[in-house]
Amino acid sequence: MAVLEIILEGDPRLREKAKRIRHVDDSVRRLADNMHETIPVAEGVALAAPQVGVTRRLIVIRVPPGYEEEDAEEISYRLADPEIIRHHGLQVGMEGCLSIPGWIGEVPRHETITVKAIDMDNKPIRIKASGHLAVIFQHEIDHLDGILFTDRIEDRSTLRLVGQREYEDAAEG
Ligand code: ZN
Repeated sequence: MAVLEIILEGDPRLREKAKRIRHVDDSVRRLADNMHETIPVAEGVALAAPQVGVTRRLIVIRVPPGYEEEDAEEISYRLADPEIIRHHGLQVGMEGCLSIPGWIGEVPRHETITVKAIDMDNKPIRIKASGHLAVIFQHEIDHLDGILFTDRIEDRSTLRLVGQREYEDAAEG
């Protein structure tokens, strides 16, 4: 496995609409494994393939144990072609992006979502998420459509450059 380089805002690959995967093969599984390894090194909780320069519809989530609550287990997903098929409610919270180091801002998101995707064995999967996990899914799926969190900020005065600690607390992927 390998730690991958994360590309930054300004790179045109972050603005492309990523291509569907349709069938997960060994090269997709290898990419997902490498993204999974890269997430903690980057001190985020997720990554979308375009962030490592691959414009295909793959996201990896890796929320460390104890992140949300003290006794919470690690949350780990490797998903191809994820789509939000249902949503309701509204939440607003601070977000940051590993492709926009140091910046955070307040983003409105759906409170609860249902995601449809295929897993690394090509099985269809549905996941219902709410709260912070729902934010992570929405942030990563946006990357597949070339959308960055800064595009979704409604109150521009909340966008600011912060210190490392505050950035890491808000950084999704
Ligand atoms: Zn991001």
